[in-house]
Amino acid sequence: MFETLTDRLGGILEKLTRRGALTEGDVNEAMREVRRALLEADVALDVVRSFTDRVKSRAVGAEVLRSVTPGQMLIKIVHDELIKTLGSDAQSIDLDAPAPVAILMVGLQGSGKTTTTAKIARRLTERNKSKVLMASLDTRRPAAMEQLAVLGEQVGVTTLPIVTGQQPVQIAKRAMEAARLGGYDVVMLDTAGRTTVDEALMAEVAEVKKQVKPHEVLLVADSLTGQDAVNTARAFEERVGITGIVLTRIDGDGRGGAALSMRHVTGKPIKLLGTGEKVDALEDFDPGRVAGRILG
Ligand code: GDP
Repeated sequence: MFETLTDRLGGILEKLTRRGALTEGDVNEAMREVRRALLEADVALDVVRSFTDRVKSRAVGAEVLRSVTPGQMLIKIVHDELIKTLGSDAQSIDLDAPAPVAILMVGLQGSGKTTTTAKIARRLTERNKSKVLMASLDTRRPAAMEQLAVLGEQVGVTTLPIVTGQQPVQIAKRAMEAARLGGYDVVMLDTAGRTTVDEALMAEVAEVKKQVKPHEVLLVADSLTGQDAVNTARAFEERVGITGIVLTRIDGDGRGGAALSMRHVTGKPIKLLGTGEKVDALEDFDPGRVAGRILG
């Protein structure tokens, strides 16, 4: 059974009944438990270290307010620092550029990239009233192109007609041209995924980026893969350059380890969360909510 961080801290924090300032001993004991819980949630070690250091430096010697118990106060500090680590400045997709605005979707195969492309297209169509065109650049897997076309029909978003024999850059350029001619606001380009980060994948994505100059490059990563998702994000950031992250399968992730490490490791904001298989299972990233989930 998954035990929340608050549950785990419970015993220790209940013992902190003394009033006055929090002592180093009190805080250290609690931080050992925080550290263990975060490592078990697959949070990157340097993230855990800098997190516990920040909590410690704020908590040790802090006067406990009359209205709260020392435990509540420590929880509040942990909560605030979780939000800071997650990125307190929630950002959503940036469409502030001349139309058609290109959004390049990148990530490993199976991360939920194609589904997320359709989810975002649906949201932009319905909420922003944008005219959206989607195109699959996955020339190696015809099934992936078909999948996007099927999803497009499902969400009522046009997909670029499939032309066999074209290379990803050619398809991307064709999509941009079709969007210009058709008066589209947004073009979503779903790139091919691989099972691992390999040079061929990176070179292909980098070339599309160079040619199309997308306004957003969103990395889609599976939160259930924990630190692997974070390492993938780092590799894409270093090799291609990304503007934001979409974390998928949050519905199955009770631990939040990937979310917590992402911002610290990549410096890029998590913009959206995938919360299920259905096309409407997409949420804005809210650091407060995620921190609440991690604390339990
Ligand atoms: P791609 O290979 O990266 O394009 O991945 P797909 O979009 O084909 O998704 C792979 C599988 O993950 C599909 O069965 C999706 O329905 C599922 N999926 C995608 N996003 C989510 C999510 O946020 N939650 C859950 N539970 N499933 C998801």
